[in-house]
Amino acid sequence: MSVQLNETHHPALRSWVVSANDGKTDFPIQNLPFGVFRRAGSSEHFRIGVAIGDQILDLTLAQQVGVFSTIMDARLAHALGASQLNALMDLGNATASAIRAALSHALREGAPAQAGLQPTLVAQADAEYALPAQIGDYTDFYTSVHHATSVGKLFRPDNPLLPNYKWVPIGYHGRSSSIGVSGQQFRRPIGQTMPPNASTPSFGPAKRMDYECEVGVFIGQGNTLGDAIAMDEAEQHVFGLCLLNDWSARDVQGWEYQPLGPFLAKNFASTISPWVVTLEALAPYRKAWARDAADPQPLPYLDNANLRDTGAFDIELEVLLQTEKMRQEGMPAQRLSLSNFAHSYWTVAQMVTHHTVNGCNLRAGDFLGSGTQSGPAPEEAGSLLELTEGGKKPIVFANGEQRIFIEDGDSIIMRGWAQKEGAPRIGFGEVEGRLLPARSL
Ligand code: MN
Repeated sequence: MSVQLNETHHPALRSWVVSANDGKTDFPIQNLPFGVFRRAGSSEHFRIGVAIGDQILDLTLAQQVGVFSTIMDARLAHALGASQLNALMDLGNATASAIRAALSHALREGAPAQAGLQPTLVAQADAEYALPAQIGDYTDFYTSVHHATSVGKLFRPDNPLLPNYKWVPIGYHGRSSSIGVSGQQFRRPIGQTMPPNASTPSFGPAKRMDYECEVGVFIGQGNTLGDAIAMDEAEQHVFGLCLLNDWSARDVQGWEYQPLGPFLAKNFASTISPWVVTLEALAPYRKAWARDAADPQPLPYLDNANLRDTGAFDIELEVLLQTEKMRQEGMPAQRLSLSNFAHSYWTVAQMVTHHTVNGCNLRAGDFLGSGTQSGPAPEEAGSLLELTEGGKKPIVFANGEQRIFIEDGDSIIMRGWAQKEGAPRIGFGEVEGRLLPARSL
């Protein structure tokens, strides 16, 4: 299925939620991302909401006001009343699209629903979030050839890019239990490392703490075990995208990763943004995808016409760091990098299709990480490992502080947005997480 625009994308649409119309918000009426929230500090049940401007619309209350009356049935009522998005994801993207259309109508300037909905809004400033879905399985890919090459150079100077990279989307099965939502704080992990020139490993707090700027993919309707999802259908199985910080302990990773790949270097914490932006919302920001003529073209099962026309996503990805000192001095977080998801060597559809080509079943709420998104330029690198050239080149901030890797008390913030001529800017909000000191040994 190709990417199509409809009335919900129209750039002239404005909302009666005034903050949605300022041109700067991540959440104009053309976005309408889904999340799970409650009033901060309350004992309310978490419930499904949609972001609009600086507010959240509670979908249970919207349902009670009749916003979805023309599409309502028992399964949808159950899904909208849940405290996680899994049941809604499982209903498929046609249902999510019908909800989006109904919300677009109800939130427009002049909509009769305004009187009933306005009193139900919750300010995002007053909300706290839970994971959007119960994540059954989590798989992390490695789709940036720029990241794979520069990290490969650090780990294997003589053999940076392994020969399979340009043929097969590389990934590993991660761990879902330690994925948290923005605001996650976690202790510096403890583990085994092999210091340079040592002959026996050390044990203690990891010293080379890093982040990875990734795009997260929430699976919608799944597939039956034994069946594969073809490229033509792949995006029908994707509910939407969010931001992912795949925290990484590089010194643990360097010692443990061979021959089976990442393990304890990755599974102590991963943090995602609270809002899931649907592929439908992202339709105006798609780009043609091309593979360099000098590189192998994808095998036929990973290729189709839609991939070539609109397979890539033009999403800007920004990473910022705020130290404890910056926080105390009221200094804003400082930018570390800016890149774009369009540089990815493999696309979202290729990840889904490759994951299921052997018959592996994906389920609603399963989560895929894109892998660190680094662009071609050094300042577009999506990790400190790359930005500091393996810890050799410190980053110096305006207040004189320096970083090679993440220090205790540092926050890492990631933001993502899409904009282009003739379409409004939409965004993902942000994902923020903080490293705390290691537990005592
Ligand atoms: Mn990763």
